[in-house]
Amino acid sequence: MSQQGPGFATLAVHAGAQPDPTTGARATPIYQTTSFVFDDVDHAASLFGLQAFGNIYTRIGNPTNAVLEERVAALEGGTAALAVASGHAAEFLTMHALMQPGDEFIAATKLYGGSINQFNHSYKNFGWNVVWADPDDPAAFERALSPRTKAIFVESIANPGGVIVDIEAIAVIAKKAKVPLIVDNTMATPYLWRPFEHGADIVVHSATKFLGGHGNSIGGLIVDGGTFDWAGDDRYPMLSKPRPEYGGMVLGETFGNFAFAIATRVLSLRDLGPALSPFNAFQILTGIETLPLRMQRQSDSTLVVAEHLARHPAVSWVSYPGLASDAYHELARKYVPKGAGAVFTFGLKGGYDAGVKLVGALELFSHLANIGDTRSLVIHPASTTHRQLADAQKIAAGAGPDVVRLSIGLEEPADLIADLDRALSDG
Ligand code: PLP
Repeated sequence: MSQQGPGFATLAVHAGAQPDPTTGARATPIYQTTSFVFDDVDHAASLFGLQAFGNIYTRIGNPTNAVLEERVAALEGGTAALAVASGHAAEFLTMHALMQPGDEFIAATKLYGGSINQFNHSYKNFGWNVVWADPDDPAAFERALSPRTKAIFVESIANPGGVIVDIEAIAVIAKKAKVPLIVDNTMATPYLWRPFEHGADIVVHSATKFLGGHGNSIGGLIVDGGTFDWAGDDRYPMLSKPRPEYGGMVLGETFGNFAFAIATRVLSLRDLGPALSPFNAFQILTGIETLPLRMQRQSDSTLVVAEHLARHPAVSWVSYPGLASDAYHELARKYVPKGAGAVFTFGLKGGYDAGVKLVGALELFSHLANIGDTRSLVIHPASTTHRQLADAQKIAAGAGPDVVRLSIGLEEPADLIADLDRALSDG
């Protein structure tokens, strides 16, 4: 153990976990129960009134999920976390704790397509309005501010992989405007990049991807950086106003630097309901134990595959910030010196038809709509996820007819390259 405390790999295996006090079980047990018995009525009253921490009902907390929460909070360097049913649930509950009808938030234009849909369409039902800003131009976030702005939302490495966002520049703007900066750190994971060290206030994850890492469980996390002062800020009534259901308690005052994590649990998750199953929490925890090994290996292999494709005669371009020639390479060296992640896109000279043929001909790569698996994955967005869009919209979304996205797994890079070479030359 170093003077600063345990290192990342040690936290990935141990943070939040103890041998089970009853049985001695060393792996975290799966507490597959809906509810927890109270000692007596006073105990129940103190739990419901938030005077004591403890377990009530798995929708708002479970001991298996609590280990996952503590572990991800430790890996990100946050004060506390909340585990939820999916990455989308993490985004939704985060916004629910911040936004009132008629409020706005500013989001980067380069995001996972599902988040763009969620922000553009579903949030309208709640009266929450998104204002878009180009993350390549941090000043665009300043120009987009209004008196109703309640948050700024960006991805660190933006899905589908080619973009590194200058979080420090955007954090300066968020701090000046006194609004929290939310960073979706799904693609980087805290192994490659810890956004709280660069000015983020809240981190969200789709644990479905690299945290879980094995393509077997949907889950999400909200991590509180403990950096934002909610108390006394009328713009955030969920945190700064007395809560009738908790005897007039003001969460921002009572819970200080982990008040945001508490608010998302005891207000947003409690009332909206997307709880994480303890079984999925167990799977994601097991995945996290090898996160540093997997992320390093997958990033290293991705660079090898990207370099190969950049030289391939059937390929017109490769977008991967790990490549020395890439427009984001300087930002990648600053923010993700260990590697630029395991997802990237490239363009086929043969356009749409070549993309369709490639996904059909690959054998080692699985053709599916996910990233961050031990197995390598491929998708041709124009014929699948973005099929319903007009060509111009596809191109604007980075899903032009020639674009193929890869998520590199743990196989031998030479085998992946051989599969790609064979599929690109077939027929
Ligand atoms: N954020 C990013 C960057 C993603 O890639 C995804 C899913 O692809 C999500 C959020 C949504 O996560 P989930 O599928 O777990 O709801």
